[in-house]
Formats: sequence, C-alpha cells, structure tokens
Amino acid sequence: MENLGHWIDGKRVPGEAARQSDVYNPATGEVQAKLALASRDEVDAAIAKAAEAQVAWGATNPQRRARVMMALVHLINRDMDKLAEALSREHGKTFPDAKGDVQRGLEVIEYCIGAPQMLKGEFTDSAGPGIDMYSMRQPLGVVASITPFNFPAMIPLWGMGPALACGNAMILKPSERDPSVPLMLAELCKEAGLPDGVLQVVNGDKEAVDAILDNETVQAVAFVGSTPIAHYIYSRATANGKRAQCFGGAKNHMIIMPDADLDQAADALVGAGYGAAGERCMAISVAVPVGEDTADKLIEKLVPRVEALKVGPYTAGDDVDYGPVVTAAAKQNIERLVQTGIDQGAKLAVDGRGFSLQGYEDGFFVGPHLFDHVAPDMDIYRQEIFGPVLSTVRAGSYEEAIGLAMSHEYGNGTAIYTRDGDTARDFANRINIGMVGVNVPIPVPLAYHTFGGWKKSGFGDLNQHGPDAFKFYTRTKTVTARWPSGIKEGGEFNFKAMD
Ligand code: NAD
Repeated sequence: MENLGHWIDGKRVPGEAARQSDVYNPATGEVQAKLALASRDEVDAAIAKAAEAQVAWGATNPQRRARVMMALVHLINRDMDKLAEALSREHGKTFPDAKGDVQRGLEVIEYCIGAPQMLKGEFTDSAGPGIDMYSMRQPLGVVASITPFNFPAMIPLWGMGPALACGNAMILKPSERDPSVPLMLAELCKEAGLPDGVLQVVNGDKEAVDAILDNETVQAVAFVGSTPIAHYIYSRATANGKRAQCFGGAKNHMIIMPDADLDQAADALVGAGYGAAGERCMAISVAVPVGEDTADKLIEKLVPRVEALKVGPYTAGDDVDYGPVVTAAAKQNIERLVQTGIDQGAKLAVDGRGFSLQGYEDGFFVGPHLFDHVAPDMDIYRQEIFGPVLSTVRAGSYEEAIGLAMSHEYGNGTAIYTRDGDTARDFANRINIGMVGVNVPIPVPLAYHTFGGWKKSGFGDLNQHGPDAFKFYTRTKTVTARWPSGIKEGGEFNFKAMD
C-alpha cells in the first residue's frame, strides 16, 4: 500500500516511517494509504533546510514572489477537479463542497498577488534636520502551520499564501487524516516557481507538532483545529518565545426572530447545519427561535427538509447533500453525544440513528438529526458535536437569545434572521463573537477581510488572511537615518557641520 510520505526540498520522500498511520476512504471505511509519521529528528532536519532556503527567498523582491502566487493561481485552477477528487476521497465531502474548499483557499492566494502593496513600509521625510525615518516589514524566517482535517485545501492555503508571499519559509504539518491535497499543493508550488525547501510538508502527529513547537528556528506558529489542542499549542509556542495564532472549535448560534422569513431561515439552517456533514467550524449547530410560535413554525418547516436530506458518497454526484464523517471514531463520538441528548431530555424531532447505506455499510455515514427543546446545561448544547446534528433552543425573548450566544464559551460565528434593521444592528454591535451574519448563515469573510473567532475559538491577537496575515508573517523594523544633505563648503560636504 502506498506510503504518502512528506514533501522535503522539492520532492516527495517516504520518510523513515518508523511509525505510520492509516488514511481512510470514509465512504467505504477502507484504508486507502499509509502515512509516515515524522520523528522529531526528521522535523528538525526539515526546519534546518527550510532556514537555508529562506535566506534567498526572503531576499527575492516582493514582485517576483507575487509572480509565484500568480502562477499558483493558474495551476490550482488547472488542477481544480483533480484536487477536489483527492479531497473528497480522503475527507468524504461532496465534490461541489470539495471544490468550494479549494476555491476559498485559492481566493487567499489571489489576494497574495497584491503582497508588494501590503508589504510597503512607511516613510517620514525630514523627521529632524537631515533626518528621515522609515519602517519596513521583513519576513520572520521559518514559520509553521498546523492544520485540521476539515478543510485540507483551504486552511493550508490560508497559511501558505501570506507566509510565502511575505518571504518566509514554511513548515506545513497537515492533518494526518487527509494529507494528499496539501502534498499536491506543495507540488504545484514547485511548478509555480517556488524554490526547493521554502515549503516543507511534514506529516505526523503530536511528536511532529511538539518538535515544531520546541525548535528555536521556528519563529511563528499558526494553528487551526480543536480548542484543547489550540490552547496547548498557543501555550507551548508562546512559552518558547514564538508568535502564535491558534484557532479552535465552535458552537455557532443562529437566532430566528418572529419577523424573519421562516422559509429562508429554514433553508439556511439546513445548508449551514448539515452541509459537509456538519464538519465546518462555521456550521450552525444551534437554532434559537424567539417565541414559542416562531419555534413551532420553524420546527414544522425544518422537519421535512431535514428528513429529505440525501446522504451518500461523493461518487454519487449532485444527488448527495452530504457525505460520511471523517473517521469511525468521529461517528462514534457523534452517536454518543446524540444519546446524551436523548438521556438528558431533549426531543429528537428527526432521528438519524441507525442510518445505513446499501453497498457502503462500512462507511462512516451518520443520518441527519434534529433536536428540539434543548436546554443550555445539556452536553449537546455545551460541546461541539461536529456532525449532522442541529439543536434547537427555544428562547422567550431577543434578550434571552442574544444572552445564550454571548454566554457560550465559543465565539467563532453567529447569525441573526430578522427583517428589522434595529435588531440586526444591535445584535451585530453587542455580540461577543468574531464573525456575524445578518440573514447570512455562514458569514465567512472574503480573503481581503480577516477570519477569526473570539473567546475559546481563537487564541492570539491577529486573524487569518486579510491585512492581519501580512502583520502576522512579518516584523517591523524602523530605521532613523541622517544624511548631510545641503551642507556644503567649497563644493565638498562639510561633515563637521553635521555635529
Ligand atoms: P484537531 O485539533 O484534532 O487536529 C488539528 C491538528 O492538530 C492536526 O494537524 C493534528 O495532527 C494536530 N494534533 C492533534 N492532536 C494533537 C496533540 N495532542 N498535540 C499536538 N498536535 C495535535 O482538529 P481536527 O479534528 O483535525 O479538526 C476539527 C476541529 O477544528 C474542530 O474543532 C473545528 O471547529 C476546528 N476548526 C476550527 C477552525 C477555525 O477557524 N476556528 C477552522 C476549521 C476547523
């Protein structure tokens, strides 16, 4: 069986492979490849090579680096279907969803073509007599990105684009569950003209991550994944003197006001709650209808829509709404949490338990679940389920609804459905959550804005992509320079006059 290996110094290498993990096809439940897990020594060697390669790359002018980004855009578009197919095969998401994953990453690479503009410094002419002052943004050196399974194209590209365009070398440690697309992207970077060693992809688990966190050459760490690991990585990276931005889990609430268009809200909830099998950090996992009447009508509209969802493998084409979850362990965890919901008194309005697909009995499929009458102290409300399970918490008033979202420990995304501008404006201003949608269920900011959650959904003070990324991947140097201009005696500079 193929060992996917690593991408080191511009080529695929098998690695020492003393330890390996299995890469599954979640639709069939079969192991389709093996993955070498890098040892600490292998990671250290990859970092040392990256540091060598970074010297020339950091000195390359920004426009040339931007041309690599431009070439990469063309190559990703050329290989879009190939990338999406590999992504669906390892992740399980539908083909259109996989293309969306690549597309949202691609948009950040497009944005990075403008890196020379973003990297321009500041200049003060004549800050004193004969004195000018200027600031420049310089690359950090070697940086690292540790990414989750759920967006194996988008999140690596969100890190790679700005980090490389700023002149850094990058160590990318993708999720061990779906590593093929990051390896393919590294290959495309080489084809686009990125010098060997500037992007090193090391596959691995905790041992590889800890090696990155402890290596003194690594200047900054970007992490996206679950909250406990985000917190661990943030703590260890910053304790070791590194810059860090670590994004964690989510429990995104959508508030449905009595004046909302309930058909629109129900459609939005089905797309945002069950798309990609609920394995999106911006998925809506909690619906909060305001008032009993709104709640009754909403549930009435949701039930047939949720029951009609088609679950299947990506190979079934456009006829499928969502695919399997990523692993057998993820499926078991979702099923366990559903059971706690029932045991703790929530009402299962759509019961997806026992779902099975003919011909795919060993696949990691989970049927759609809809809970009503969920209470804030239940496990299904407090924990991130990361599966096709939508919980409905009925609120008596707008204040109660906004209070629920504000008191939850996660603060990634949220949305409100209303026709009232005052309510929408109040919600957007008061809510303590990083990304807000008004009649938009998954408010993912575009590449030229920044993406990041608050509270336990994000540690660190700079967001992903947009202007923040150029700040995160550079440091500022400020120069004060004095030149003896205009002080001449007999056609020669009089340096003494400067004293
Ligand atoms: P995860 O935390 O299990 O893994 C993420 C990365 O951390 C992987 O590369 C993994 O190899 C590594 N890792 C896992 N355990 C580790 C350990 N003990 N020590 C060091 N490294 C470790 O997350 P996941 O299951 O791959 O992804 C799903 C999670 O990511 C969800 O919680 C989701 O909400 C979150 N997510 C958040 C965002 C965001 O922007 N906030 C975006 C996407 C996903």
